[in-house]
Amino acid sequence: MEPLDPSTIAVSLGRGAHRAGDPLNVPVVLSSTFRAGGAIGYAREGNPVWEAFEEVIGALEGGVAVVFPSGLAAVRAILELVPVGGHVVAAHGSYSGTRRLLQDLEARGRLTTRLVDITDTSTAVGAADGAALLWAESPTNPMMGVADLAGLRAAKPELYVVDNTFATPLLQRPLVDAGADLVVHSATKLIGGHSDVVLGVVVARDESLASEIRQVRTEHGAVAGPLEVFLALRGVRTLPVRVERASATAAALAGRFGSHAGVDEVLYPGFGTMLSVLVHGGAAAAERFCSGVRLAVPATSLGGVETLVERRAQYHWDAVAGVPDNLVRISVGLEHVDDVWRDFEQALAQIT
Ligand SMILES: *Cc1c(COP(=O)(O)O)cnc(C)c1O
Repeated sequence: MEPLDPSTIAVSLGRGAHRAGDPLNVPVVLSSTFRAGGAIGYAREGNPVWEAFEEVIGALEGGVAVVFPSGLAAVRAILELVPVGGHVVAAHGSYSGTRRLLQDLEARGRLTTRLVDITDTSTAVGAADGAALLWAESPTNPMMGVADLAGLRAAKPELYVVDNTFATPLLQRPLVDAGADLVVHSATKLIGGHSDVVLGVVVARDESLASEIRQVRTEHGAVAGPLEVFLALRGVRTLPVRVERASATAAALAGRFGSHAGVDEVLYPGFGTMLSVLVHGGAAAAERFCSGVRLAVPATSLGGVETLVERRAQYHWDAVAGVPDNLVRISVGLEHVDDVWRDFEQALAQIT
């Protein structure tokens, strides 16, 4: 059979054994222990719905997936593979929780860290050559810079990791297209897609790296709840359709913001469901924009069906990273583009 399109993979994989009379969806199995002699003995080691979810995500990314109870738990498991005293080079536009974790691990003498502009390929490659780990994230958060993920491979670190949460495997496949060793997702975001579940996943380029990650998961006791994984799997079924729709809306909004006098600059990577705007009039104007929206929701997080807005520099970890005071990050949802735009227009009109 021809290789399946990602939209087909999302719908048809992870459905169990296909025996007559079996449920179409792998059921939520609420059991901490399993009868002796089978593949799974205790729920720290596995669960049927983990396997289903991992099958789909692994196929979408082109690797072997390992589910975690949160994105940050997945990030932490990867960092466990860095040897003691190892050097980590990471994007300064990485998720704030990742940057904080790296700083804390450095303070405790576990590893050393250098943050670089991941969109400046030659500088990043120079810094990461021979490092234990290169941590890329693209598009960057919240500046929406785009890294040359394949170009970064030239650094030859021991491990090359890409946080693919913003792009999703529909728009960017770092294992297949950029030679990455590991991909990580906060499945809380686009993969789950409905703002109702916290979950993470690591995808390894091969089974041997996946089994190292799986071992860390078991040792850390980073056990995802079966109900959460079920919900995220249900989310994945519609991921390609949601990404397609929200991406089209994001592109349209980027154009409309670009010709609006209330916005100084639009930061849009050219693809995906995320964009940021620099609101004319500084921090206070950006705050008023966020409190002036009626349809969009002022809230942190991203990737759900509902459009969210957030002024990022209010957070210490983004302020120290040099995020402009007047930047509002927008996670585009599935509302109609004209309704969302009218909402943004009226919120901007309240400022000017
Ligand atoms: C949210 C997020 C994380 C952390 O994931 P949680 O599921 O919140 O633990 C990691 N990376 C990126 C890019 C994120 O947006």
